[in-house]
Amino acid sequence: MINEMSIIFDAISTNEGFARVAVAAFVTHLNPTVEEMADIKTAVSEAVTNCIIHGYENRGGKIYIHCTIENGVLYIEIKDKGVGIEDVEKAMEPLYTSKPELERSGMGFSFMEAFMDELEVESTPSKGTTVKMQKKLQCGDWILTED
Ligand code: ATP
Ligand code: MG
Repeated sequence: MINEMSIIFDAISTNEGFARVAVAAFVTHLNPTVEEMADIKTAVSEAVTNCIIHGYENRGGKIYIHCTIENGVLYIEIKDKGVGIEDVEKAMEPLYTSKPELERSGMGFSFMEAFMDELEVESTPSKGTTVKMQKKLQCGDWILTED
């Protein structure tokens, strides 16, 4: 069985919390562990923040999230139609940031890589960026939390 959902929302920082909770709510029925839940939320937050501040350079636009769950594996795609990335390999290096003046640490992609099982980044300059992630979920207890 495949379970699927899509959301489109404005690229503004107030929607970061909405995005992470929306994805978390979607996976709740699989009974993920507290740790799995935290990992997924962090990865979604990092990708969505990147769309807002890098993709759209804080000027707004739409963010597209598409998730599927198949055989206990969660697939997440997070897309923007922003400026895109010239050199994806370089952008994904730990500590690389194009915005040191904004006190970014350049660790977003590293966190996504660490907390998810697979990470793939597709980007075309001036067209946009799509981040694809997947995570195999173990069955476990999940204590319902607010956030
Ligand atoms: P941090 O996430 O630690 O606050 P950061 O956002 O700069 O810092 P990463 O998330 O690892 O670090 O991203 C690295 C770089 O990749 C960014 O500085 C930016 O240049 C580029 N980048 C990431 N996501 C996008 C995107 N959606 N659109 C355009 N450029 C992006
Ligand atoms: Mg980032």
